[in-house]
Amino acid sequence: MSERIGFIGLGIMGSGMAQNLLKAGFELAVWNRTASKMEPLVESGATAADSPADLARRSDITVICVSDTPDVEAVLLSEDGVMHGVGAGDLVIDCSTISPIRTQELAKGLAEKGAHMLDAPVSGGSEGAAQGTLSIMVGGDEDQVARAMPVLEAMGRSITHVGGNGAGQMVKLVNQILVVNGMLALGEAFLFAQAGGLDLEKTFKAVEGGAAGSWALTYRGPQIIERDWRPGFMIDLQQKDLRLVLEAADEFGVPVLGCSTTFHLYRTLQSRGLGGEGNHALIKALEYLADMQVGTEAE
Ligand code: NAP
Repeated sequence: MSERIGFIGLGIMGSGMAQNLLKAGFELAVWNRTASKMEPLVESGATAADSPADLARRSDITVICVSDTPDVEAVLLSEDGVMHGVGAGDLVIDCSTISPIRTQELAKGLAEKGAHMLDAPVSGGSEGAAQGTLSIMVGGDEDQVARAMPVLEAMGRSITHVGGNGAGQMVKLVNQILVVNGMLALGEAFLFAQAGGLDLEKTFKAVEGGAAGSWALTYRGPQIIERDWRPGFMIDLQQKDLRLVLEAADEFGVPVLGCSTTFHLYRTLQSRGLGGEGNHALIKALEYLADMQVGTEAE
């Protein structure tokens, strides 16, 4: 009999990931703080749980995908949290991007109840979550990774076991260093193209397939040209990831100059009330500096 799965956190990422678990044929319970977000999943065949504890009681494997470290702590440790429903032998898979150190402590807390934990943060954006093509970086014990594989394979295409508890979160921070520096490059490139009087569509087509090609350019380049700032990944969450990178880099004593710059640029956008826009709106911070705009529609 296949394991019963529970999913907590039906946001931009979690809603697509949970739908893919249903499509793969898993028996699925869901819980979301804002209850209305459970409706599409229930219509697709999931059962709505009353609380994270209730969900954990109904599940062998509980998957979590919420925003930040305190939010994972809330769904795990609060009065009606997972910790109060989890049983010996159960597995918790945390797909949120959170602190690697805190992840290790949470895994120890679960181990005291005889339960297991994997950190399995994801990359691939809202598109990857919806299409089941995420890259998943997994930290934890080998046997639990093997046990989790059918669940992870339902949500992702590239699944890599990178080490013990917390290692998945560390690799995710490496991923974010690459992502934000790419996003800064995208902003600088489009602003430069606009200032040089180039046709942005043609410029995009000319460079997309060459050595400068990237996921960010393919998916977010057209959004920048159209000035479509709807989030695949919100600035507020990107900022949270940069905070985690800067904290770890400070501890390690390594320079992360690009991340430091983008952290402050995103901060200026948050101050302007743009934290809910997509991370590709980073270009707006450069536009303010240059006193010009890319794209056609003036805002
Ligand atoms: P999102 O759309 O803002 O969804 C966040 C989810 O977390 C919602 O279900 C929210 O519930 C829940 N939540 C937040 N705080 C909570 C709390 N204290 N208690 C209970 N539930 C809480 O964010 P997302 O884009 O799906 O991101 C989720 C995680 O995936 C984050 O760690 C993010 O860094 C990571 N991630 C995102 C992307 C991306 O492209 N979007 C890519 C890779 C990784 P409500 O509905 O009630 O607000």
